Amino acid sequence: MKAMVLSQTAPLNERPDPLQCVEMATPEPAENELLIQVAACGVCHTELDEIEGRLTPPRLPVVLGHEVVGRVVECGANVTRFASGDRVGVGWIHHSSGTADENLSPQFAATGCDVNGGYAQFMTVPEDYAVAIPDSLSDTQAAPLMCAGAIGYRALRLTGLRDGEPLGLMGFGGSGHLVLPTAKHLYPNSPVYVFTRDESVQQFACELAADWAGGVDAVPPQPLQAIIDTTPAWKPVVESMKKLRPGGRLVINAIRKEDADKSELLKLSYHEHLWMEREIKSVANLTHRDIAEFLPLAAEIPLRPEVTLYPLEQANEALRNLRRGQIKGANVLAVS
Ligand SMILES: [Zn+2]
Repeated sequence: MKAMVLSQTAPLNERPDPLQCVEMATPEPAENELLIQVAACGVCHTELDEIEGRLTPPRLPVVLGHEVVGRVVECGANVTRFASGDRVGVGWIHHSSGTADENLSPQFAATGCDVNGGYAQFMTVPEDYAVAIPDSLSDTQAAPLMCAGAIGYRALRLTGLRDGEPLGLMGFGGSGHLVLPTAKHLYPNSPVYVFTRDESVQQFACELAADWAGGVDAVPPQPLQAIIDTTPAWKPVVESMKKLRPGGRLVINAIRKEDADKSELLKLSYHEHLWMEREIKSVANLTHRDIAEFLPLAAEIPLRPEVTLYPLEQANEALRNLRRGQIKGANVLAVS
């Protein structure tokens, strides 16, 4: 099969084509696994973290990609829940402990990091970690929901928001533009304010029903009960804390923060930003349940992610465009 593999980590500007297109053996499913023919795979910021070594895969080369949608083409001997031809998705959780907090378990294995992922024509996954894709979602629309959408759903739950309380979204990329309609569906009376540096993205947020949009350091119409930060930078953390109500919560939904503007943290003032029981919480990984709950919700809303398509072989270009921020919505590899 054809696959785009990462064999060496380096900054993207030093190595602008980080992935190589190779021919490799099609994997064979173990007795509890499905072999999936990949139809589409979303391109996530986490791939940049892996490529640049902030989140180093334990073994190289590795096939990246954890927003996978495809069709089952072969089942291991003990598989009972799926059959050949079923359309399934695989997210960041490839397998784990199966407990309620499996996202935090030492057994957690990440798709496209600890095991080969979806930047390839085929991949395998345990059946317990595959999710049926609702019929109303196309392959390429469902792909970004597997990570950006599902983890956005988890982040939203971790805010502890109650309907009517004001919510902020710091950053508006692959995850933010899916969280906004999800928030509007779950909390119909909560105003949602979006913070992002790019004015065209601010406008895009308002087209998607944000109640207001402004720059990272803009002052929103009212203090916020909760903010979800999906940016890779530190300034947005300090700026978010300024915008919270007393008792408000910042939920950071980013696997790694980059170091470029880490000095911004020195501007964090205890009195201005933390005092009055303001809190910061991170989101780590996903449980199978998060994805299994979120996909039917996405179909019901209905969520229709804005996607830009690339062939598998152009994954490097998709990654460079993601780095430059030159996308509206999500980048997706159309594999087959
Ligand atoms: Zn992701």
